[in-house]
Amino acid sequence: MRQPAIADLIVKGGTIITMDPAAPELENHSLAVKDGKIAAIYPSSETFWSAPEILDASDCLLIPGLINTHSHLPMTYFRGLADDLPLDIWLREYIWPMEAKILNAQVIRDATLHGACEMLKNGISMSHDMYFNMPAIADACTEAGLRVIIGEAVIDARVSDGSLPGTQIRELRQRYKDNPLVDFDLPPHSIYSCSRSTLEKCIQAARELDMLLHIHLSETEAEVQNCLKEQGKRPVHYLNELGMLDQRVLLAHAIWVDASEIEVLAAKGVSIASCTDSNLKLSSGILPLKSYLDQGVNVSLATDGVASNNDLDLLSELGNTARLHKAINRDPAFLPAKEALKLVTINAAKALGVEHLRGSLEVGKDADICVMELNDLQSQPLYNSYSHLVYALGSRHVRDMVVAGRVVLRNGQLTQADETELVATAKAYGLRIKAELGQ
Ligand SMILES: [Zn+2]
Repeated sequence: MRQPAIADLIVKGGTIITMDPAAPELENHSLAVKDGKIAAIYPSSETFWSAPEILDASDCLLIPGLINTHSHLPMTYFRGLADDLPLDIWLREYIWPMEAKILNAQVIRDATLHGACEMLKNGISMSHDMYFNMPAIADACTEAGLRVIIGEAVIDARVSDGSLPGTQIRELRQRYKDNPLVDFDLPPHSIYSCSRSTLEKCIQAARELDMLLHIHLSETEAEVQNCLKEQGKRPVHYLNELGMLDQRVLLAHAIWVDASEIEVLAAKGVSIASCTDSNLKLSSGILPLKSYLDQGVNVSLATDGVASNNDLDLLSELGNTARLHKAINRDPAFLPAKEALKLVTINAAKALGVEHLRGSLEVGKDADICVMELNDLQSQPLYNSYSHLVYALGSRHVRDMVVAGRVVLRNGQLTQADETELVATAKAYGLRIKAELGQ
């Protein structure tokens, strides 16, 4: 007879949607968690595993923690600051001047903590963030318990001397080497804020430091027209000419691409972070999702910054994306729910180069688990879990979150931060920002 094994935590299920093709849906199964990893997935009737901490998720749906592939966490306090405007005016007349006026390490940390906690409550266990001041973001996400890959946005104005962008990353990787939640990458902000030479420096630095490159690309039609005028070619061909495109590249938006560009992206194994809600609200355009998927391009979903979304709700992003693309393709069978769920789990992990660690619930992978409660009017009856996840359930069904083996949300309550305090802090910042705006 086998000796009983002791885990750190048992999440007692429940139905597990693993996103592992070998065993996609397991009823009445539990997960044993040890050292931040999934040590076992087994029928809940078995008594082999025990643990000092049990999370009873018997009537719940267990899914991999959602992965948000493009965000700007420190912008959380800019939610609703300026709406109903074109991207260019929104950025240049509101967001950038306000950033210049109020941002410092403390504001970045406070806003990030708020956004990180909001993401956890929305079922997100990992985000991929682009902003300024990486240590402030790293510390705030660590405090909340959210996993994050952080990149300091590179723009021409910040690349002044002969040094390569990303030099701080060596030191930061060393400083955070024992922190399982934090990693870093290199994001040149965009082709309109980085010159050819800045982009080349980023590519060189990313190769030297073995880092993911993350860039906003082809978000608006005007950006493409400018690139044609200045570089004589479309944005994807421009980046390809620079030697930037390979499997370690994630393009945020990538809406305005033609067939020849999609072909290049497919051939090079580049991934896309599609920000459906942000693109719709800013009227930037609609991603050619069907063409991407038909060509085998890896697409993931992302919230973008809350200032343009205006929430950090990846499940609603998923539902909106599925509905929108069925409608524009005039095909209700396009992107079935089971496929759609990949965009916020395993495809997202692949986009960030972490599919061997996350994006599905499998033995040996990180214990990043989202527990959804199914006891309300909206969630019953349940015939198909995938359908429910894409079309019926929402963030309010997220009951518990486990990230790196730690329960960071229990019964809807954050365990690492005080939500009342976060709300009070946000209100105080709101008053300050209003005063800056002269309102
Ligand atoms: Zn963005």
